[in-house]
Amino acid sequence: MTNEVAVWGDKEKTNWLTEQVIQRSYLDEVVSKLDGFKNIFNISQYGALSYAPKKYPLFIVINLNFDTSKKNILITGGVHGYETSGVHGALSFLEKEVDNYIDQFNIMVAPCVSPWGYETINRWNPNTIDPNRSFFKDGRSEECNLLMQEIAAMKIDMFAHIDLHETTDTDNSVFRPALEKRDGVTQELWDIPDGFYLVGDTENPSFDFQKAMIDAVRKVTHIAPADKNGKIIGKTITQEGVINYPIKKLNLCAGFSNAIYCSTTEVYPDSPKIKYDDCVKAQVAAIKGGLDYLLSKYS
Ligand SMILES: [Zn+2]
Repeated sequence: MTNEVAVWGDKEKTNWLTEQVIQRSYLDEVVSKLDGFKNIFNISQYGALSYAPKKYPLFIVINLNFDTSKKNILITGGVHGYETSGVHGALSFLEKEVDNYIDQFNIMVAPCVSPWGYETINRWNPNTIDPNRSFFKDGRSEECNLLMQEIAAMKIDMFAHIDLHETTDTDNSVFRPALEKRDGVTQELWDIPDGFYLVGDTENPSFDFQKAMIDAVRKVTHIAPADKNGKIIGKTITQEGVINYPIKKLNLCAGFSNAIYCSTTEVYPDSPKIKYDDCVKAQVAAIKGGLDYLLSKYS
């Protein structure tokens, strides 16, 4: 996946880009909220996307009382900008829950890694690159490179990293067909699972950590059932609501930080069973479930 060879040339990519429409404002809906956290967080700008730096400054919030003796937690949202509850789940965690954890952990939150994707409701960046396949050195996603550089410059060991995502109906109706066209490769199709699930790391599955997150989310929304073959999105589940990917090999966001505990959340916003608010609550519940597990095990 790292060596995708696009059959689209510059012309096709430009055509695709001209079809994309700004549908909401990153500055209004995300950046404007960060000021509200400055009593306990340093709001740190780690760069700006070169194609529109004024529109897309990038921020990570880091607790002011950073203590090198504490374990470091990274939360990322909006790596896929269209996955709205990832962005607003990260903000909601900061707003409503972070007080319960800030004494025990250093907490870093990058709420919207791909803001152009947020504004245009897109999986890719403007260069038709999927950021969540691009967390590798000197990769082609500026969104990823800037975040990786920022975290590397901190010279800290990451204890846990939770990356907030959604799996949407448009994955099958819009984004997978576009990927097929870009690369000229037929994509495996699977049913979009109705419910919440997690993607852990095949190399470091952290079974109990994942279970704690699922158990916390279950109180807020339903967990995705496996299909008749025991799979979710084509992968055999390892426990209820959990599949594992080789996340480092795939250059997924949850892998770049080398955290001891890592997980990718996947909320299903198109379910007839839930409202949008439940998606945000599910993201927050997942973070809390993970952090509560770490506190019970290590404090
Ligand atoms: Zn995603």
